Amino acid sequence: MKRPTFRLAATAALAATASAALLTGCGGDADADEPAAQNTPAAGSTGTPGANTDPATPAAAFTVTHIGGPTTLLEVAGARILIDPTFDQPKKYPSGLEKTQAPAYGPDKLGRIDAVLLSHDQHDDNLDDSGRELLKTAPLVLSTPGAHQRLGDHVTALASWTSTDLKTARGTIKITAVPALHGPDGVDRGADGEVTGFVLSGPGVPTTYISGDNASATVAKQVGDRIKSEIGPIDTAVLFAGAARTPAILDNAPLTLTSKDAARVAKDLVPRKVVAVHTDSWNIYSEDMASLVKAFEDQGIAAKLVDIKPDGTAKNLA
Ligand SMILES: [Zn+2]
Repeated sequence: MKRPTFRLAATAALAATASAALLTGCGGDADADEPAAQNTPAAGSTGTPGANTDPATPAAAFTVTHIGGPTTLLEVAGARILIDPTFDQPKKYPSGLEKTQAPAYGPDKLGRIDAVLLSHDQHDDNLDDSGRELLKTAPLVLSTPGAHQRLGDHVTALASWTSTDLKTARGTIKITAVPALHGPDGVDRGADGEVTGFVLSGPGVPTTYISGDNASATVAKQVGDRIKSEIGPIDTAVLFAGAARTPAILDNAPLTLTSKDAARVAKDLVPRKVVAVHTDSWNIYSEDMASLVKAFEDQGIAAKLVDIKPDGTAKNLA
């Protein structure tokens, strides 16, 4: 496989790049805990975006907010980290994909973002038109080497098992890229299938695995085993489920985790909590949240599943 060049190969390389200033400055300012100007919670609203920016929120808060599809906001260790931005209204795309449901809120209600973790850029359901716009203003975007090549220098490439540090007002979050397979075991989709997962870790940071568009429980187990041996137990797993399928690719094979495989991953990785996303808002998901809940119940691990909907409500994971 052709290996594109990328700007940052490892944490050590950071110090020598212009990005270092960006990274260390990102979220490390004195007002990092202050709510963004446009992020004032509306009284009585249940779908309040960024509810954890309320100054009354405990410092140790760890919250997840599902905005729609794969798009999820993690608030952890003082940082606000956005996963796979998709904010378009329902519409059809030239690719054949269709957005079927509006996001919980638009980028204007998002508030401060310290980093975007982009699993890949090739597919509309992980990066739509308004998501692309948002990337241009994000202080840090981490993704695949291919995404860096296609999208430009505002996207920093992280190869698998390399990491970078995000400085926050409360310390440092280590962000490590991990392998993901965008199709069944043994299949190589080439550039179209290039995708990455991520792991968040560090002092005071609940170790969090974010699968990205990965369909392989085998790959997830390998990733989980290495996280456990090199970093420690996994606190939370954010799994992209929904068994995305399209007749044009691999004869309708699942391109993300089926509900059953998501439960298998949860059994294998033994996280304290599982946040399942990527089951709603797009026409390519073949399995929904109800089937996922059933699969977890069948395995006797339903208690691990965070009850989360794509409604913009911040859920406390602490
Ligand atoms: Zn994809």
